[in-house]
Amino acid sequence: MGIRVEVERDRCEGYGFCEQSAPEVFRLDDEGELEILQAELPDDQCDRAEAAVRLCPVAALRLKR
Ligand code: SF4
Repeated sequence: MGIRVEVERDRCEGYGFCEQSAPEVFRLDDEGELEILQAELPDDQCDRAEAAVRLCPVAALRLKR
């Protein structure tokens, strides 16, 4: 099992809160484009990704189980 991280790229405004809460999963590149470093996470590593989803001001992130 585990979860899958998805981004709605049309919504993402590059605020970077996701990167701050889970830098092992999210990274903004030099142009402010969001990169997903790890799209599949085991259950025991999903807390910080869940925090990132809550913090995103434009609700661009989702986790799928
Ligand atoms: S917090 Fe949301 S808007 Fe900001 S970079 Fe992450 S996904 Fe994009």
